[in-house]
Amino acid sequence: MIELAGLTKRYGEKVAVNRLTFTVRPGVVTGFLGPNGSGKSTTMRMILGLDHPTAGDVRIDGKHYDRLKDPLTYIGALLEAKAWHGGRSAYHHLLCLAQSNGIPRQRVGEVLETVGLTAVARKKTKGFSLGMGQRLGIAAALLGDPRILMFDEPVNGLDPEGIHWIRTLMKTLAAQGRTVFVSSHLMSEMALTADHLVVIGQGRLLADTSMADFVERNAGSRVRIRTPQRERLLDVLHGAGLTVVETGSGAFEVAGSAPERIGELAAQHRLVLHELSTQQPSLEEAFMRLTAESVEYHAHADAAAGGQRWGDGWGRG
Ligand code: ADP
Ligand code: MG
Repeated sequence: MIELAGLTKRYGEKVAVNRLTFTVRPGVVTGFLGPNGSGKSTTMRMILGLDHPTAGDVRIDGKHYDRLKDPLTYIGALLEAKAWHGGRSAYHHLLCLAQSNGIPRQRVGEVLETVGLTAVARKKTKGFSLGMGQRLGIAAALLGDPRILMFDEPVNGLDPEGIHWIRTLMKTLAAQGRTVFVSSHLMSEMALTADHLVVIGQGRLLADTSMADFVERNAGSRVRIRTPQRERLLDVLHGAGLTVVETGSGAFEVAGSAPERIGELAAQHRLVLHELSTQQPSLEEAFMRLTAESVEYHAHADAAAGGQRWGDGWGRG
C-alpha cells in the first residue's frame, strides 16, 4: 500500500505536485494518468524518497522510504527509460544490485527468466534495445520480490509485443496480490491495463475511481444513425427536440436518447434506417473532458499540437 497525504512539490514558482491525497491498494493495477508535465514522475520520485516533498507526506506500508529496511524487498520501481551505459552485462548489473541489497544471488537468474533476458544475460547492456532496457529495468524492480511495484510510463517507445508483455506482467503481479502503480499519459493504454484510476492535471487530483465507475460516469452514450432519407429524418429528430451532430461519411449522432426511441420515431414516419447503433464514447474523450482545463499551456496550443502533446492514443480524427 502506498499512502499520499497532501503531497506537494514546488520548484521555485512552479507547483509540480499540489496537495495530492490518495491511496494505492494491493491486488489491482492502479493507473496514474495525466498529461505530460502534470507531475506523475515527480510524485513517483517522492514515493521513492528521491525527491523531498515541499509539504505533505508519503508512506509505503506505513513507513517513509528512508525507514524501510532493505527497501527493494518492499517496493520495486522502473523510472523513466534510460540508456544503459556500459561494460556490465545484464547478469552483473543485477548481481551487484542483489549483493548490495541483501538479496539472494539465485533471484538474479529468476528475474532474468521472468523478463525473458536469459539468453542475453551475459551480453553487455550498452548494446541493448529500448525494449531490452525496459525488461532489464523491470528485472531490477522485481529482484527483491517486493509486494509493491511502480512503473513510470513503462510502455513508452516499446513495440507492440513489448507493450503486450508489460500489460500482461502488470496484471499478473496484481493478481498475485501485489500493489501495482503505473503511470501513463495515454488513456488508451490505461483502459487496457488498469482496474483503478488516479487522474491528475497540473499536479492536482482530478479523479480517484475504479475504471468501471470512470467509464460509467464520464461516458454518456450516443446513438449513431445512417439513413438514405437524411433530410426527412433530421426534420423528425429536430421536431422531437433532439440535438443531432453530423459525424461525416453520411452518418449523424444523437446524444441523450435511447436507440429504441429513435427507431420508433423513424418507424412512425416510415423512414428507412441503414444503421442504428449505440456508441460508447472513448475513454480518451472522457479523460479529455476531465483534464481539459488543467492541461498546461492549453491557452496557446492549437488543436494539432494539443493532439500530439497527448500522444498517439488521443486522436479521434
Ligand atoms: P509528468 O511525469 O507527469 O510528465 P513531471 O513530474 O515530470 O510530470 O513534471 C511536473 C512539472 O514539474 C513539469 O512542469 C516539470 O517541468 C516540472 N519539473 C519536474 N522536475 C523539475 C525539476 N527538477 N526542476 C524544475 N521543474 C521540474
Ligand atoms: Mg513523467
